[in-house]
Amino acid sequence: MCAQFEELGLTLLQARQTWDWVYRQGALSFEAMTNLPLAVRYRLEELYSLERLPTFQEHLSCDGTRKWVFSLPGGSDAPTQLSSIPSAHTASIETVFIPEEKRATVCLSSQVGCSLRCCFCRTGTRLFERNLTPHELVSQVLHVKDKFADWPQHSKTRYLTHIVMMGMGEPLLNYEAVKEALALLLDPHGLAFSRHRITVSTSGIVPVLASLARDCRVPLTLSLHAPSDTLRSQLMPVNDVYPLKELMRAVHAYPQMSKTKYVTIAYVLLKGVNDSQAEARALLSLLQGLPAKVNLLTFNAWKGAPFAPSSAGVCATFSRILTQGGIDCFRRRTRGRDILAACGQLRADTQ
Ligand code: SAH
Ligand code: SF4
Repeated sequence: MCAQFEELGLTLLQARQTWDWVYRQGALSFEAMTNLPLAVRYRLEELYSLERLPTFQEHLSCDGTRKWVFSLPGGSDAPTQLSSIPSAHTASIETVFIPEEKRATVCLSSQVGCSLRCCFCRTGTRLFERNLTPHELVSQVLHVKDKFADWPQHSKTRYLTHIVMMGMGEPLLNYEAVKEALALLLDPHGLAFSRHRITVSTSGIVPVLASLARDCRVPLTLSLHAPSDTLRSQLMPVNDVYPLKELMRAVHAYPQMSKTKYVTIAYVLLKGVNDSQAEARALLSLLQGLPAKVNLLTFNAWKGAPFAPSSAGVCATFSRILTQGGIDCFRRRTRGRDILAACGQLRADTQ
């Protein structure tokens, strides 16, 4: 927490008080930080900004899911820390909020666009522009907390309970920023989320998995989507760089290294592509010995996508084969599809 503040001459107590104002109380101005000496407040004001991300659009789904489009500085002019430097061109990202009966989840974007171009994913149809900064990652959470007045001065119980990095982009290709943001989200003096309530989803950037396990120790979702290299490479070009053998070796090591109980395997069922009984059995054998749960995703359609969702019968058979083979399998209800806020639909078109 304190390296930057120490350089500024703040005492440990003052540094903690500043963090408390920013991340525990959601302060929107340094002036409000009344337990800090005026000179310290002025100094902080000179160096940092507490401004939130500028919202471009808000969409509300019929199921209560919300999606915000934020406009950020574009290109390589991205701000490097708390301050936001104006830029001539802008980039946009989307953040999704999913309320449920007993939990409320924010789905964060980690990059503007995505370079990996999985062919079932709408985000992959947009050019990769840049990585988000740690501040931009955390600000998506602050935005949701502001929106629902989820700060202790307004409500004793937390409203926002879970964070998933499953929005636009590949978090492990922006690892340094993701690591810094996770540290802030987990720090008891920061946003103080329990690490069991944060999930990072990845398409499988093998060399970074061990660092994520060791440094952040958060639950992992692996976007697998195919049980063979031939099919996976067709669907996800990243598989040519990190083929299944290497990937599964790294994923098998993850639970022990991160002290998490299991890895969630995301598998989107695409009609006639990866949903046969033989593929279910191949998936089962790929997962042998791995503490895993499989999340069978319904394909969320988008204009121009060359896929269709599998039928209910095919999904049930696929799921039964996994369950009978001893793998826990679940299917989450798709949320926010009517506003293009569901998995794989985010593109941040601002037109
Ligand atoms: N890049 C990361 C995280 C963002 S994608 C990753 O790939 O894991 C979030 C999830 O949505 C991934 O599991 C991804 O495979 C899935 N997904 C992508 N397109 C989809 C679509 N059209 N329908 C359903 N799920 C999709
Ligand atoms: Fe990128 Fe994930 Fe979409 Fe693949 S599924 S294109 S890795 S965001």
